Amino acid sequence: MPSPPASASASTARNSDPFDADDESSTASLVADAVTWASTHGMVREREKRETGSFFRSDQNLDASLNLPPPHRHHHQKVVGLSGVAGAPEAALVHAPLSARPAPLPRKAFEDAAAASTLFNSLAAAVSLDEAWLEGTLAAAAGADDFTARLLQVLRKTRNYRKGSSEEVVLLLSRSDYLLDKPSSKLLQVELNTIASSFGCLGDAASRMHLALSAKRGWGIDGGRGGQDKKKSRFSLPENGARAALASGLAAAFDEVVRNSSSSTSSSPSSSTSSSVCLFVVQPGEKNAYDQALLAEALLVDHGVPSVRVTLREIAERATFGEENDGNDDDDDGGNGGNGKNDGKKKQRPLFLDGRRVAVAYLRAGYGPSDYPSDSEWRAREVLEMSDAALCPSVALQLAGAKKVQQALAAPGATERFLLSDSAPSSSSSSSSSSSSPSELVRAHFAGLWGLDGAVKEEAAAANQALKEALVHPENFVLKPQREGGGNNLYGEQLRAKILKCGSEADPKLAGFILMQRILPATHEALLVRNGVSKRVATVSELGIFGIHLRRGTKTLLNERAGHLLRTKPADANEGGVASGYAVLDSPMLVDEED
Ligand code: ADP
Ligand code: MG
Repeated sequence: MPSPPASASASTARNSDPFDADDESSTASLVADAVTWASTHGMVREREKRETGSFFRSDQNLDASLNLPPPHRHHHQKVVGLSGVAGAPEAALVHAPLSARPAPLPRKAFEDAAAASTLFNSLAAAVSLDEAWLEGTLAAAAGADDFTARLLQVLRKTRNYRKGSSEEVVLLLSRSDYLLDKPSSKLLQVELNTIASSFGCLGDAASRMHLALSAKRGWGIDGGRGGQDKKKSRFSLPENGARAALASGLAAAFDEVVRNSSSSTSSSPSSSTSSSVCLFVVQPGEKNAYDQALLAEALLVDHGVPSVRVTLREIAERATFGEENDGNDDDDDGGNGGNGKNDGKKKQRPLFLDGRRVAVAYLRAGYGPSDYPSDSEWRAREVLEMSDAALCPSVALQLAGAKKVQQALAAPGATERFLLSDSAPSSSSSSSSSSSSPSELVRAHFAGLWGLDGAVKEEAAAANQALKEALVHPENFVLKPQREGGGNNLYGEQLRAKILKCGSEADPKLAGFILMQRILPATHEALLVRNGVSKRVATVSELGIFGIHLRRGTKTLLNERAGHLLRTKPADANEGGVASGYAVLDSPMLVDEED
């Protein structure tokens, strides 16, 4: 994303770069301020016991280590821990990796992405309802990828429980990720996350951190709520609010399940709010627990909804079905629920964990094969699908976020199947033409995507051409397997080697992968801070827009945008995860076009 141009005259606050005044000595105090704010506002992560001092995984050569002046140094060591401090525990909290200054982003790009949020929600929800299309689209990928095959198996096995009930409540907490492609000036979608969309709360904190730093340091950037400097600036920090918005989505799903079950079974005290619970389904040894803890707190304090943290295995071991049913499903055939022999009349059942009714299951785990070390975890997914808990997400909705689905939706006519022409957002903030159809609006964000299974003749020709190009210019492509969570994609030489090994033609051997145009974002210099150590480096930023979509059966109950996340990484890093150690938390500084 482009740096705001330094003003030629630098004569007015409106035009000058807000950071021009930052010299080396103020950089040290800026970093100390940022680290202090993060550490005292819950923008933290767990520092691993044997974590080395390395800065980024991809970059061992640190060229600038923070040398704080004494008063800062003392405070700084208290808030970041640790090393060198006598008696410091081996494991402790440390501030989350952060960018000390917000990153410039053209206002129009941000507003276009924000306006597309509800459309991508609708698209994912509609895809999840069309299980036949999902199965057909993912068939070849499932042939090459066991994980996809297993998810489809759960979908099939539990089908009768869903089809028997138009009462299924499904919540999507989405995050649509974008990079601004410099050659085309288009904001292109990296992917749409439909499961475990993370960093809503820590990203929200990053926005507030930059507001606080801007006020303290007199950057003169417009904040969401004005602030002292009422002068209109070219630069502004948009309000985020992801934490509150995501919590309100979970609360709405909770209310929907609890209210409905208490009105239909008023005799059942176990359906009441006080004994119902929202499950946060997490990985054993979760490292990003504080992002989740902030969300759980907002859910409890703002909405009175209690939550418990459990793993998939604990669900398999401890969850039980209640007796509230229509008398049609008294045989406990959970493992065979969708074997095709049932008549489609089955009703989803109430689920209990340690005596409490499960109203919502919010998955922050279950998106990759390592989350399923045994059959127990798969069994837990089946149990959830058969229950009447609101699922965030259902297996179908998780599959709607598959890389293969993203590619299939880019094929001509595909989005039109799912997006009604009258579902365009009414928001006047969109700078896109109001005459654009919903499909055109989402399509404007699609990068080049190619399916590699060779199944569709017309597609195979284009894919073969793209594969040929990728062998000559691998730097212009990304090869993606059906995986989530970062660190799985192939770039450069690895991409080339994989294509060569598989025969360099669209073929079932490559069916587990999709090929994607490499998005080439502009770089900007940023001051990144990790483990209390700062580094000035050329970076690129990735924008994520959160969304909430709640449905009961086919009826949409809620469809909203829910704040944003900006992650910034060194320009030479391929992957972008914060948890995986490549990127830092940031927030966008919106830049108006020059008049
Ligand atoms: P995952 O689901 O594992 O997070 P992503 O598709 O989001 O996979 O890719 C991970 C990271 O790799 C992204 O956050 C982004 O930084 C980078 N990346 C992915 N696709 C592209 C692309 N087409 N062009 C440039 N960078 C990409
Ligand atoms: Mg991603």
